[in-house]
This record gives sequence, structure tokens and C-alpha cells, in this order.
Amino acid sequence: MIKRKIFFCIIVFYAEKKILTTAGGTRENIDPVRYIGNYSSGKMGLALADCAYKFGAEVTLISTFDVQKNYKVIKVDSAAQMSETVEREFVDCDSLIMAAAVSDFRVKEQASEKIKKENVDSLVLELIKNPDILANVSSKKSEKQLVVGFCAETNDLIENAKLKISKKQCDFIVANDVSRSDTGFGSDYNEVTLF
Ligand code: C5P
Repeated sequence: MIKRKIFFCIIVFYAEKKILTTAGGTRENIDPVRYIGNYSSGKMGLALADCAYKFGAEVTLISTFDVQKNYKVIKVDSAAQMSETVEREFVDCDSLIMAAAVSDFRVKEQASEKIKKENVDSLVLELIKNPDILANVSSKKSEKQLVVGFCAETNDLIENAKLKISKKQCDFIVANDVSRSDTGFGSDYNEVTLF
């Protein structure tokens, strides 16, 4: 097993370069007290940002977690906020690493007040698709900019990664098997295949 930080140093080490990294899972509000989320710990994106900073890059981290760092951190919650922030910050960066677990869907109509359970036996939420940040940014990138995506899968890792890299048109895809208990979500170690 290759320790995550050491492995990714090789990929993201660009001293004096502007590196934009995303981390954590987005939260899609249902009402003022509930949201749809995922199990992303944010560790991957954070480790990459720390690593790039350590090796001299000017780092911006767009994170769904509140973290105090010596580099610029922008806190976001939803996929829409992350999308807007990535698009803005991407303009003058050299590399984007999309390590965040972006929710594919959001609730079509968020309730402005807490949804009450009284008098109902079931609740139907209509979900609509979120923008694909990675695909959108890849389609706009200049020849000098590098875009790295992630691919967390529980099965057919290689096939899915190959499909993703052609669909999202990014320069690299980092594929990892999240069905394993020793790597993947929440783990301090990771084992990946780079395409
Ligand atoms: O399609 P999938 O979610 O498997 O792709 C994962 C990659 O795409 C990750 O790099 C993730 O950050 C990015 N992504 C995105 N916008 C979405 C969904 C995923 O940028 N709406």
C-alpha cells in the first residue's frame, strides 16, 4: 500500500503553481433542518491541499468542512455553491483536483419551513440533477491547465474509470475501490489506479 500523501505529491507537486482542490461531500438541503449528504470525510482533498502547500504551491481549498489552514479555504455546502466557487476560482489556477464527493442530485423544491411528520405516512421528494462541475470545467480549460477527477466505485473500477475520463474529458482520473474497508471513505490510507 502506498501512503496517500507520498503518492499524490508526485502528481500535484507544482511549486509556485496555483492549485485548486475540493474536499468533502456536498449537502443538499431538504428543509432548514435536514439535508441529503454522503459519507465523504474530506480527508483525500485535504491531504492533497496540504501536500501541494507543503511543496510550495499557492493553494485554494474549496471544502464542505470548516478547516483552519495557512492557505486559502472557502467553505461551501451545496453542489450549486461548490460549482459557482470552482468556476470562479478555476479561471486563474494551474490545476484543479476535484476530490469532493459532489451530490448528483438535489431536492427540486426545498421547504422553507421544517417538514412535519404529523398527518403523513410517507414523504416523496423530487430530485433533480446537479451540474457536473468536473465536466463543465474540463470543457473550458486552457491547454496549460490540468484537471484531475476522482472515481469512487464499488464494482467494475477500471471500466467505470475509463468511461468517466472520456465522458468528463479531464486529464487524469484517480480511481479507487470504496467497497474495501481498509481504503476508501474515511480511511487514512488509499490505494488507487491512475488513468
Ligand atoms: O460521476 P461521478 O460522481 O462518479 O464522478 C466523480 C468525479 O466527478 C469526482 O471528481 C467529483 O468531484 C466530480 N463530480 C463533479 N460534479 C458532480 C458529480 C461529480 O464535479 N455533479
